[in-house]
Formats: sequence, C-alpha cells, structure tokens
Amino acid sequence: MGLTLLAPLAMGLLALSCWAAPLHSKPQAVITFPGELVSNRTDLQLAESYLLRFGYTESEGQTRSRQLSMGKALRRMQKQLGLEETGELDASTLEAMRAPRCGVPDVGRFLTFEGDLKWDHNDLTYRVINHSPDLDASVIDDAFARAFKVWSDVTPLTFTRLQSGEADIMIQFGTEEHGDGYPFDGKDGLLAHAFPPGKGVQGDAHFDDDEFWTLGTGIVVKTSYGNANGAACHFPFTFEGQSYSTCTSEGRSDGLPWCATTPNYDTDKVYGFCPSELLYTYDGNSDGAKCVFPFIFEGKSYDACTTDGRSDGYRWCATTASFDQDKKYGFCPNRDTAVIGGNSQGDPCVFPFTFLGQTYSACTSEGRQDGKLWCATTSNYDTDHKWGFCPDQGYSLFLVAAHEFGHSLGLDHSSVREALMYPMYSYIKDFHLHPDDVSGIQFLYGQGSGPAPTIQVPDIPDQATTQAADTTTTAEPDTATDDDYPLPTEPSPVDPSSDACKVNSFDAITEINGELHFFKGGNYWKSSVSRKGAIQGPFRISATWPALPALIDAAFQDLLTKKLFFFSGRRFWVYTGSSVLGPRGIEKLGIGKEAERISGALQRGRGKVLLFSGEKYWRLDVKVQKVDKGYPRLTDDTFAGVPLNAHDVFLYQGKYHFCQDRFYWRMTPRYQVERVGYVKYDILNCPEQ
Ligand SMILES: [Zn+2]
Ligand SMILES: [Zn+2]
Repeated sequence: MGLTLLAPLAMGLLALSCWAAPLHSKPQAVITFPGELVSNRTDLQLAESYLLRFGYTESEGQTRSRQLSMGKALRRMQKQLGLEETGELDASTLEAMRAPRCGVPDVGRFLTFEGDLKWDHNDLTYRVINHSPDLDASVIDDAFARAFKVWSDVTPLTFTRLQSGEADIMIQFGTEEHGDGYPFDGKDGLLAHAFPPGKGVQGDAHFDDDEFWTLGTGIVVKTSYGNANGAACHFPFTFEGQSYSTCTSEGRSDGLPWCATTPNYDTDKVYGFCPSELLYTYDGNSDGAKCVFPFIFEGKSYDACTTDGRSDGYRWCATTASFDQDKKYGFCPNRDTAVIGGNSQGDPCVFPFTFLGQTYSACTSEGRQDGKLWCATTSNYDTDHKWGFCPDQGYSLFLVAAHEFGHSLGLDHSSVREALMYPMYSYIKDFHLHPDDVSGIQFLYGQGSGPAPTIQVPDIPDQATTQAADTTTTAEPDTATDDDYPLPTEPSPVDPSSDACKVNSFDAITEINGELHFFKGGNYWKSSVSRKGAIQGPFRISATWPALPALIDAAFQDLLTKKLFFFSGRRFWVYTGSSVLGPRGIEKLGIGKEAERISGALQRGRGKVLLFSGEKYWRLDVKVQKVDKGYPRLTDDTFAGVPLNAHDVFLYQGKYHFCQDRFYWRMTPRYQVERVGYVKYDILNCPEQ
C-alpha cells in the first residue's frame, strides 16, 4: 500500500505541538535507542554541554580562560541569541538549546585550528568531495552553487568549482566523528560547521549527514528517465484511481519505483523513475552505473546495498558482479521511503512492526521523550533493534550551506535573528541576505564586482594630513614636540634571523617617539611612522626597559609628558626616561577584577587614554592616574564594528586600530571602520609572498 509516508508527514506537525505542551496521557516507557549519541540528558547536563560547546563558559585565550558561572554564561548566551536575559535556565532558553543550529561556536572559535580572518585572494575555489544520499547529486551541486552566489553577489569574490585536487573550500558530508575532532550528533542538533579561511581544513564546510537534507519543505524526489524530463515527483498522485504519496512499483514487473510528476497519472501520463540503486549510483568510481546484485565483497554475496567495510555508514554496492575482482563501486541513492539516521540510515520503514509487544503500522514517537517520529526497518524492533527517523520537512541544504560558507569566508555568528549568520536554523521561503550579513561580508572583502574591487579608502600619506582633518577628536598634535624623550639605552638588534613578518600576532603595538613598536615574547621591533622605512630589530625588551617582563599586553606613550606606560597582566610600569615606577596593580588605577589584562590603549585628547580589556574600556586620566567615573563602558557601544576581543588596540596615524589574529580594523575618529587588512602588509610593510 502506498500511503505509509503520508501519515508520518501529517503527524510531524502534531508532534511539534506536543513538544510545546507536555503530554497528559499515560506515562510512556522511554527507551534508549541504539546508535543515538545523545540520549535523555537532564536539562542541566544539556545546558552545561551547550554553554561549553558554543563558547559561553570559556573566555578567549586558553591560558587565561576561566569558568564563568552558569548564570553569567546563560546571560551571555541569552544576549547573543536575542532571548530575555534572565540568567536562568528557563523554558525559552532550553528550547533554544534544543533547536537545530550551526556547530560553530558563538563565542571564540574552534580551538584546534587557528584560522585567518579573511582570504588573501578573491578568486576562491571549492570542491564537493561527496554527496548526500538524501538528494540527487545535481540538486546538491545546484544548492551549493546558489549558496556561493549569495556571497559573490555582494562582494568581489568569485567561486570556481574544482573536480579534483585541493580547493580553498572543501565541502563534505559526514556523520558523527568525521575526521576533524568536532563530531556531529546524529539527527537534529548540530547541522553543519565550517572553518574560517586558511590552508588545510580551514575554509572547509562539513554537513551532518544524519540530517535529512531537502530544500526545506520535505522530500525532493527528482525523477530520471520516463517522460517527465527530470521533474520532481508530485505527491500525492493518482494512478488507476488510487492515491500514492510515495514512489511505487505498482504496474511494473521489474520492481523499479516510479512516480507521476503531475497530480494525475491517469489523465496526464507523465512520469519518471524514482531514486533507486537499481537505476544508478552516485560518487564512487563507476560513473553512476547501477548496482549489480548479487555481488561479492570479501568473499560474501550481497543482494542489497550495504554499509559493510565502511565506518561512515554510507550504503554502497558493487557495479560489477565481484567487488573483490573489479573494485568498482558506487553509493546507493536513498529511496524516497528511506529512514534518516538511527542505525539503519537509508533503509525503508517496514510496516507493520512490533515494538514493546505492540504493533505499529505507521511512524510513532512512542519510546521517545522528544516526540520525534521513528519506525523500525525490520518487522520486529524488539528482536532486531533496527530503526531510523521518519522523513520530515528536513533542512534546506541551500540555506545551511549559505550560512556555512559565510563562516568559510570569515564571518562569525550574528545576534540579529533575521540574519543568515544567526546560529539557529529557520526555513525562509524567499531568501535575501540581511543588511547585517551584507555589511559583515563587505567589511572583509568590499562591495560587489566592478572595476575597483577593494574598499575605496584613500591611503593616508602621512600623519599631518590626518590630524589636520580630525583635530577636534584626535590626540592633540600641537603638544607633540620634536625633541623626543631619548630612550634609556640605544639598543642593538639581537637574533636577526627572527623576522617580524613571520609573527602572526603581536603582544602589543604602540607608537613611541614617532616609531611604531611591535612587542612579541621578550623582543620588539620598531619602524618609523613618518618615513615608511625598513623595520628594525628585534631588540630585547629587557635591554631597553630592564624592569619589564617578557610579555607586554599593552603600552602607550603619554603625549603630554612622554612617559611610557606598560601593562602586563594586572600590573603596570611607568618609565620616565630611564627611571621606572612599578610594578603596581591596575586596581590602583581604579580598574576592577573584571579586567584580567589590558589589551590596548588609545590616547585621546589632553591627558586622557582609553584602556581596553575584553569587551570593555576605561578612560584613564593620566595626570591623576585614575580612571574616570562612569567607566568601564562597553566597547561595542562606542566602537561598533571592531572585534570585541581585540588583542591589540593602538593609535596610528590619527586612527584607531584594533587587531585580531593577523588582521587589523582601522577606524576613523568618527567611529567609521574604513578598512580591514593584514598587519603584516599594511602596517609592517612586509613583502607579499
Ligand atoms: Zn554558524
Ligand atoms: Zn567537521
């Protein structure tokens, strides 16, 4: 009978409403289903793993990380996801934690791999390593192409598909642990993840193939052969007066499943064949040839597709009578009645089946707490324990891919609910990029294609020009004199083999006596600000400023007195010429425990300096050495659009610079981010490789 799949689809809606309101029926037996990674955790366990996984219970930087309290972490999560900030594990927070989403952390990044913030070239390549059995390969390829187009439409980026070799963005389907140490979690939950730009795994996008991949509105059954020219099945359709909601082999002697592509076969006679291993395979090495049954694999005979010999659960078959001899194989496309996930991925439901002694002739949510519909894939669950989830609306591969490719290009998650880069999945019929997404990507790569593909920012020739334009808000240029304070000792370079151009991120950057100083691990380099000369160094910090530790988090020169302030952890030192005061604790400046370190400093006007730490900043009155009342303030409130966890902040050529990884954001004194670029090339003037 052909109605088996109609029931689960209708019941899917019912299950959703049950989820929202607790059931009042008799208590169910809840069982643990084999092959499920996450089963029946308590709410607290769920919350703890969620907060950790998505970065809310670990602050940036491994060595300085500290565990935030649960309440604080919840508040952080609620703020990021646009929920009410209660700090409690309330119903809407739990619901958000159970919602399907992207696996990329909301705060911080995957820890194992250090990614770049953006690609250093615009002509990007991608490669589709494998396909999901859920959709026709051509439908998958098309979804990826459309997802890339979302981004190339608003940037100068181009995406070219490679058929072999190493591409910038390698795209792969996989389940559970799939080779990168960030396992997926079975159906729902994590849908996909992608790594920020860079070599190797960086830039790659992975899709959880325990999800049911569709175009967002249920199964897509693309036909082949027949007379419908590859159109999709129309469910339900009528054949000989009967209604069918799945493909059928009724009316055929060869057992091939088929469907009508219009509502009524009897009148229209338009049809095609449904996905079947009896017609073709995908990927593999047989160019789409159909399965040959029976086939021999490791001496054993197979009459159906199998997952034997594979650890990833993909069903395959040989395309000649002996795999052992010919090594020819392909992957089996899913039948339209195939189950999703469980321990029988790709096998069809078998009705009726027995479960806990009861007989079921449709998908059921019995035995489960989450209301998800499932079926057995043999006639008796109690003896065979073979099962899978019934097909539902599925997830739009196009929408999820467009989101993931945003990560591949360097975007983080957005807290704007309507934005594509919001971490949670929702289906949108007529998709358009949100302005938040557009400004994010144009930040990194500039606007759409055309003759001038980069951000149009005039290069500021020297300091004088900038300051003339911005005298009202920048540091007072008239107080800077030419008779710079001499440094205590004239250093001589050490270890000339140590190359500043090879440093990915500096501990601190600041301008001292007209020269930019770059601090890193006990050494520093300097380069003249006005004369774009070669970089000098490295010099030993201890040779120039003997009182300082090797790790300098931040430094600035007071423009009035020329005193030098250095920060390391919660301590600071003040150098006047060669005499030093300190170390003293930054609590003496009025900076509380919330700052573990000072990450950077911006000189502002007469005797005032902004000190940054994490997402906050303080205004220091240098003369009285106290922070002003009303601080700290949120960096985001004033300096919107720069990374909130910048590890260096400094003033250079009258503009504010915020560094993260090897990149800098340049902001005008009117708080406009006007450029994002490499510290290495733009500030250090390193030669391009
Ligand atoms: Zn994401
Ligand atoms: Zn992965």
